This record gives sequence, structure tokens and C-alpha cells, in this order.
Amino acid sequence: MVAALDKHVALIGFMGAGKTRLAEQVARKIGRTPHDLDAVIEHEVGNDIPSFFREHGEAAFRQVEEDETLFALGMEELSVLALGGGAVTSEKVRSALRERAITVWLDVDVDTSWSRVKGSNRPLAQDETDFRRLYEERRVLYERLADARVRDADDIVLAAGAIVIGDALELPEPAEIVADENVLRLHGSPIEAEVHAVPAGEQAKTLENAGRLWRALRLARSGTVVAFGGGSTTDLAGFVAATYLRGVDWVAVPTTLVGQVDAAIGGKTAIDLPEGKNLVGAFHWPARTLVAPRFLATLPDRERTNGMAEVVKTGLLAGEALWELTEHELVRRCAAFKTAVCLRDPLEHGDRRILNLGHTFAHALEAASDYRVSHGEAVALGLLAALRLSGRPTGVVQEVLAPQPVRADRERAWNALLRDKKSSEGELRLVLLGDEGAFLTPVPPDDARHALDELIAH
Ligand code: NAD
Repeated sequence: MVAALDKHVALIGFMGAGKTRLAEQVARKIGRTPHDLDAVIEHEVGNDIPSFFREHGEAAFRQVEEDETLFALGMEELSVLALGGGAVTSEKVRSALRERAITVWLDVDVDTSWSRVKGSNRPLAQDETDFRRLYEERRVLYERLADARVRDADDIVLAAGAIVIGDALELPEPAEIVADENVLRLHGSPIEAEVHAVPAGEQAKTLENAGRLWRALRLARSGTVVAFGGGSTTDLAGFVAATYLRGVDWVAVPTTLVGQVDAAIGGKTAIDLPEGKNLVGAFHWPARTLVAPRFLATLPDRERTNGMAEVVKTGLLAGEALWELTEHELVRRCAAFKTAVCLRDPLEHGDRRILNLGHTFAHALEAASDYRVSHGEAVALGLLAALRLSGRPTGVVQEVLAPQPVRADRERAWNALLRDKKSSEGELRLVLLGDEGAFLTPVPPDDARHALDELIAH
């Protein structure tokens, strides 16, 4: 499975599964056009499907269905397709799906499906016994063809981003592993392969470590680098994979909450320079991101808090109380939110900037405290500032993250804020939150300075 960066997303599944509605939802989330093949066919033949079926028979219908599905899959503009339940009976369609789409199977049990379509004029839903037999036949096809089995729009977005959530780790071969030394000690290597241990956390993201890995890797172009650790490890290993032999595949196995909801998703990779963080890097989407909740069991509180700050940020952006969900569910929902934004804007030309909500302030505070302030604390404070400047209540951040003003050099913090890369030509631009979501906007310097000052202890 690979991400849907240059592929369509195709929903397959039985009658009454809800493919049309979900295709619309997913298309909106990832910024594509939805195509409902049944509607396309009805438009094309100038008749509703039951009438066409009655007048011309099933074989004629299948031919039109095959033509239209192949046409849609052949289109250059990438879309989200809801296929007819029987479209996958065509070998040509199956082969086009394998080549051109991430195919997801919207599974529905037969009773639900029957209850939704019985009494309708759908030609293949007239007799319950025939209906149930067809259901069993089709299931085999769906199961064989699908890249993922999904229940809702978030599952589909995750599949489109090649994100797999679950504790069973299926890793490609041949592979070599780049692992955070702490994580390696706690969890062992996830597969038997050459392991390259790197220093724990941010210390890993240096040119020296990248150079050491470039020279130590023995993989050919078809090999895969597996990153095993938090965001620091996935940033480093992803960058090494992007550059080694001009780019090899990589698989991210994030072990922190930050990694699972944020860093290992979206294809940004980087190392630090003495002059600043993340100054050298590349966009290189992981061939797969394997999110295994079990690794979070050993996470220290401080690291969990760092992750919760990103969860609160995501919830604010999504307009939903995601921080109230169980850990497994909040990881799934947050990971899906970030994946959708990144699929909309893989190279950060626009939409993706909303993910920086609160982060401009956070980076300024981190730099001005010589990184004594943790990232989570800094993001929590940054969210407070962003909400205050947006004229919105800050209760959630106070309740869930309880940030306190920190000690930092005010002038250094202000200068860091002004240098932020989102600001241009002397204008300070920040991500703020409105009723319709987040947006990047110029902010009067006095207001920003005031908001920043409030985050720093006297
Ligand atoms: P990290 O990778 O820096 O690790 C923090 C600490 O947690 C380390 O000591 C590590 O050994 C330990 N650790 C990791 N997994 C553990 C586990 N399961 N149990 C116990 N200890 C564990 O932490 P992070 O917050 O995931 O990553 C931060 C980095 O991620 C930063 O460098 C940041 O720039 C980067 N990041 C990148 C992106 C992106 O889009 N590429 C997004 C967000 C953050």
C-alpha cells in the first residue's frame, strides 16, 4: 500500500453500505471531487438504473458500468470514487483499481444492508435469498481487492495516507531499522533486521547522525528504511531515506503520542543545524506509517503531555473535543485529521499552514528559553495566545493542559516571533481560529507582543 498522493481513492462495497455519502465526506476532507458512479451512469444513459436494467438487461448495464468506471479511473484529476456494488466483477476494473487507486472496502453486515435496500426498486434487491447469496459472493471479491477495510470517513482518509493503526506490525523486506536507543531498550527491534541505534530524542537530528547512517546503510534502491521511535527518529530516518541513493522507501513506526498523531504523518522530514531546528529536510511521504498503540504504554508523563498539546490543537482545528476520547480513538481521529490536511496540501503551499496554530509562539518560547521549556508546554501556551488573539475562550487549554507562564528572555522571544517563516515583508502573520476553522492572517505587532508577554513569567 502506498499513499494516495498520485492515486484516486475508490470506495467499494455492497449495496446500502453508504459509499456515496462517505465519498462526498472524504472528498471534502482531502480536497478532491467526489464521483458517484451510479449517478454518472444514470446521467450517461439518460435513465435511472432500475429502468435501464429492465429495458436492456444486466449484461448491457455491466458494460456501461465498466466503461464509466474505467473512464473515471483513467482521469488525470484525482478524485474520490464511489463504485457500484458490482463494478468489481469486471477484471478490467479490478486491474485499473490496482494500478490507479487506493481501494477501500466499506464493509456492512448483510442484515443492515438488506434493511436499507429492501422495498426499493434496486434490481438486485428484490428477493432476499438471492440478495444474501450475492452478498456472500461479492464479499470474497471485495476482501481480495481492498487495500483496507473501513468503517467511516476517518478510516478512509487514513488508508489514503497509508496509515495503518493496530498492534500487528507488517514490515517490508529487505529493510534496515533506525531506532531510538531508549525505545530499542524498552521494546526491542520490531523485526529481525540490521538495526542502527541513534541517540534518544532530539539529539538524533544532526548532520553527523545522518552522515553515519548514509554510510552504514547497505540497502539497495528497492530496500526500505524503518524508523522506530518518536518524532526525532522519524524526522531523521525519513530524511536519510529521502536522500540515501537519491531516495528509498521508508516506513514510520512512531512510538510517542506526538509521533502517532503528528510527526510521522504527512511526509515532512528534517534534521537540525546549530543555527536552528529543522533547517535541512525534505518532503518524503512514508510508504506506510504503522501506528501501534501498545508502544505508548512506556511513555513518560512529560512526553504524553507533549502529545496532548497536539491533540488539543487538533481538536480546536477540527472543532471537536477530541481530547475527551479514549487514547486509541483520539490517536485515530487526530492522525486522520492531520492526514487529510496533508493530502490536501502535500507540499505546504497553503492549507497545511493551519497546523501551526499556536506553534509560532511555541517556537519563540522554546528558543528564548534555550529549550528548557518543553515543546508541549510551549504549544499549550502558544494555543492560549492564539485563542486570545482570535477572541475565543481559552477554557479547554486551561483545563486539559493547564499551562503556566514560563521564564524566558522577552526580547529573544519577540525577535524569534518576528523571524518566523510565515511572516513576510515586515508583516507578522499568524494562524488564528474563526467560526469556519483556522486561517493565516496579518496581526498588528502590538497585539502579538502583548499576547506573547502574557505567556512569560514576571
Ligand atoms: P522524541 O522523538 O524527541 O522523543 C522524546 C523522548 O521520548 C526520547 O527520550 C525518546 O527516547 C522517548 N521515547 C520515545 N518513545 C518512547 C516510548 N514508547 N516509551 C518511552 N520513551 C519513549 O519525541 P517526539 O515528541 O515524538 O518528537 C519530537 C520531534 O518531532 C521534534 O524534533 C519535532 O521537530 C519533530 N516533529 C516533526 C513533525 C513533522 O511533521 N515532521 C511534526 C511534529 C514534530
